[in-house]
Amino acid sequence: MSGRSPSTRSSDRARPDVAVVGAGPIGLAIAWRCAARGLRVVVHDPAPGSGASAVAAGMLSPVAEAYFGEHELTSLLLASAARWPAFAAELTEATGVEVGYRTEGTLMVGLTGDDLAEARRLWAYQQGLGLPVTPLRPTELRDREPALAPRVRGGALAPTDHQVDPRLLVPALRTAAQRAGAVLVAQAVHHLADVDAQVIVVAAGCGAAALTGLPVRPVKGQILRLRAPGGVAPGFRHVIRGYADGEPIYLVPRVDGEVVLGATVEERTDTSVTAGAVLRLLRAGVDLLPELAEYDLVEAVAGLRPGTPDNAPILGPLPGRPDVLAATGHHRHGIVLTPVTADLIADLVTTGVPDPLLAPFRPDRFLADLVDGGGPDHTMEGERWS
Ligand SMILES: Cc1cc2nc3c(=O)[nH]c(=O)nc-3n(C[C@H](O)[C@H](O)[C@H](O)COP(=O)(O)OP(=O)(O)OC[C@H]3O[C@@H](n4cnc5c(N)ncnc54)[C@H](O)[C@@H]3O)c2cc1C
Repeated sequence: MSGRSPSTRSSDRARPDVAVVGAGPIGLAIAWRCAARGLRVVVHDPAPGSGASAVAAGMLSPVAEAYFGEHELTSLLLASAARWPAFAAELTEATGVEVGYRTEGTLMVGLTGDDLAEARRLWAYQQGLGLPVTPLRPTELRDREPALAPRVRGGALAPTDHQVDPRLLVPALRTAAQRAGAVLVAQAVHHLADVDAQVIVVAAGCGAAALTGLPVRPVKGQILRLRAPGGVAPGFRHVIRGYADGEPIYLVPRVDGEVVLGATVEERTDTSVTAGAVLRLLRAGVDLLPELAEYDLVEAVAGLRPGTPDNAPILGPLPGRPDVLAATGHHRHGIVLTPVTADLIADLVTTGVPDPLLAPFRPDRFLADLVDGGGPDHTMEGERWS
């Protein structure tokens, strides 16, 4: 793939350098980065920001989400989290909008003895990777968060796991992209063949599967929003995540009084909210933080994460289509992965040279799926990808 520089020839004037399909955090951040480099960018989306990001909690948790067997994903999460402070500052400078980036860190807790045993296995693995996980005695835990239930058996601190508010982030990214010159077209793309641009970036979340044949599947997540009474900040400052009687949950406090309580992980394609899920989330949340029982329940909603067979994103050119770049499949990590995805895809567009960080996430690792499933706009049959 050759690199792209801004078009200067008059015959090229009407043709965008880059067409981005999807205006979620990933597509908008890529559009911002590309437009800021002087490329002519068009973003297609009938409902910008209406995908998974509209419900996401916004945890930036490369440490707490470092799971067994996901080394390469963990490396990418760490690389992206390291970019977050500068990314948030740059975004605020470009738009005047604070995106709720908070750095108090994350407390990982276990309610029962069994919960703690399960959590400790994961912490040992994370510490083995050299990640900053500091076990805390129960008194140390309650010194940090007095609102935790006395029943909570133990915990650990992940000081570098931060948070941002996706409902502030996505509009800010849209403003930044548009101020940099990107043009938003409020229409869906049904076939890539309908898009005329030097490079097409498919950043359509779950919509990427129909456009490319890539194995991106919806993974449903139900999530609640509560609000501290009286408009005050919640009675805790850290992101709190862990297990409560075997139920994995997280609680994300915002300065404006909101608490995000999530989330289910379901292999379903609907976005209905079920009584059972609300019950389980509330019970687990109140077990960890009893004061939540007094909070207002203001929202119960579900979204669809763009999941992949190996839980990792799909980043790079489609096999046989060097002009079509995938930036999708971010599953549970699309908010934390926004800065690194935007930088690496914008680099790839402008230089044509993939950063080594991208290597494990190339679309061709799913070549068998592509050959079997087929892309709607072009056949993959018989193609080879070196
Ligand atoms: C309950 C829940 C909690 C989450 N919590 C976190 C978290 O704490 N931290 C974290 O990092 N991640 C979290 N996530 C995951 C995160 O939300 C996603 O990974 C992220 O939103 C993916 O971004 P995206 O831009 O690729 O896709 P999306 O946010 O889904 O946006 C896709 C966009 O593409 C558009 N689109 C789709 N098809 C087409 C088409 N054919 N033509 C044009 N446009 C199209 C849609 O309208 C939408 O605007 C959570 C997700 C859920 C559901």
